Amino acid sequence: MRSPYLLFGLGAAFSFVTASAAPLTPDAAKNCSACAEWNQPQAPFVLYGKSWYVGTQGLSAVLIDSGAGLVLLDGALAESAPLIAANIQKLGYQLDQIKYIAVSHAHYDHVGGVAALARASGATVIASARNAQALAAGTTAKDDPQAGFGDKENSFPKVKNAKIIADGETLRLGRLALTAHYTPGHTPGATSWSWQDCVDGECLNLVYADSLNAVSDDNYRFGGTDGAGGIAAAFRASIARVAALPCDLVVPVHPGFAQLEEKLAQRAQGVKPDPLIDRGACERYAAAAGEKLEARLLRERSGAEQRSSSEH
Ligand SMILES: [Zn+2]
Repeated sequence: MRSPYLLFGLGAAFSFVTASAAPLTPDAAKNCSACAEWNQPQAPFVLYGKSWYVGTQGLSAVLIDSGAGLVLLDGALAESAPLIAANIQKLGYQLDQIKYIAVSHAHYDHVGGVAALARASGATVIASARNAQALAAGTTAKDDPQAGFGDKENSFPKVKNAKIIADGETLRLGRLALTAHYTPGHTPGATSWSWQDCVDGECLNLVYADSLNAVSDDNYRFGGTDGAGGIAAAFRASIARVAALPCDLVVPVHPGFAQLEEKLAQRAQGVKPDPLIDRGACERYAAAAGEKLEARLLRERSGAEQRSSSEH
């Protein structure tokens, strides 16, 4: 926070210097087949209280003002970083107010922009143990369901020195308590996040839900290949875990997974109560993912084609 005494005592030139934050230098764009569509700009909007959506039309990013600094969830694509930064600034914040960047899962469409956003803000990146390994490598883990797509498709700008948060651990900053929930399945490190935000003493449970989508290359088997069942049991447990979270408002990593655009349009039309407050949304999101996983496991057992295209 700038001191008003400096403004009055030393004049506008000094205040201009102190107000400047490090500029964002984006990394090379990913340019995948779906990237341009995912990266359509989206004006920032309030979720509830001091929690904001700052992502693009197809890739979520959430900003939370703790009162003692900002926490950003995810950085979308490398080419999304300037859009996310601009959205944060449109809300009246400076990038160097971001203290932490917490991530969902280490695929290029959710963490591609994290390196540039961390450089520009000086924020500490927070990740599950397996996400931290993938962030440092700049690509998916060998046991990631999408590893077979290859490093050329999977790579993203490396993020060294992410701080590991344990399953169930809570990150505290100001009035914010942000809890990590390991939800492996879509990736080994997948993490969903929950926190409360309050307006005039009315507190809601917000969830940033990671992907629960069973997507892989042709050779991967969610049911495993050695008779031990693979990731299926852990994946089912992750789906059950998201379904059971206290959840008044959900933002999935792809906003379309919870019809955020439609809810926002209803809000703009003045629909009350706020359509974004949707207490069944986590359960519905998890149930849809569960059906998809079970259908996938059936196909695996029948030997059918596995790959679903351009879904992350
Ligand atoms: Zn993904």
